[in-house]
Amino acid sequence: MHEYSVMTGVVNSILDKIKGMNVKRVERVDMIVGELTFLSPEQMKFAFDVLTEGTLLEGAELNIEVKKARIKCRKCGYEGSMHVEESKEYHFELPVFKCPKCGGEIDIIEGKECMVKNAKIIVDD
Ligand SMILES: [Zn+2]
Repeated sequence: MHEYSVMTGVVNSILDKIKGMNVKRVERVDMIVGELTFLSPEQMKFAFDVLTEGTLLEGAELNIEVKKARIKCRKCGYEGSMHVEESKEYHFELPVFKCPKCGGEIDIIEGKECMVKNAKIIVDD
């Protein structure tokens, strides 16, 4: 399960950051995940709940914002969303890694990110 290893890194880095601070608990964690990471928000939330048990992050709400992919064509300069193609065989939507206008090579501008945007921390005073 890919989500589990990703969330292990996320949870550890947050715990590392709040170490030494007078943190009572963490209320909410906001993440941005690009659709091209193919991570499932449900699986991420499940992994988060398992991994945070018994830590300062236990009970924190995980908020995941899925970011749409944006591409730019190297040939014609088209910039915009990526087209998806449904595989008839598997009934699964696959992104098309070429320009929808001219079929040229593309660069991915957005959609591959996976990061913690914000964390709401309750500090004990
Ligand atoms: Zn193009």
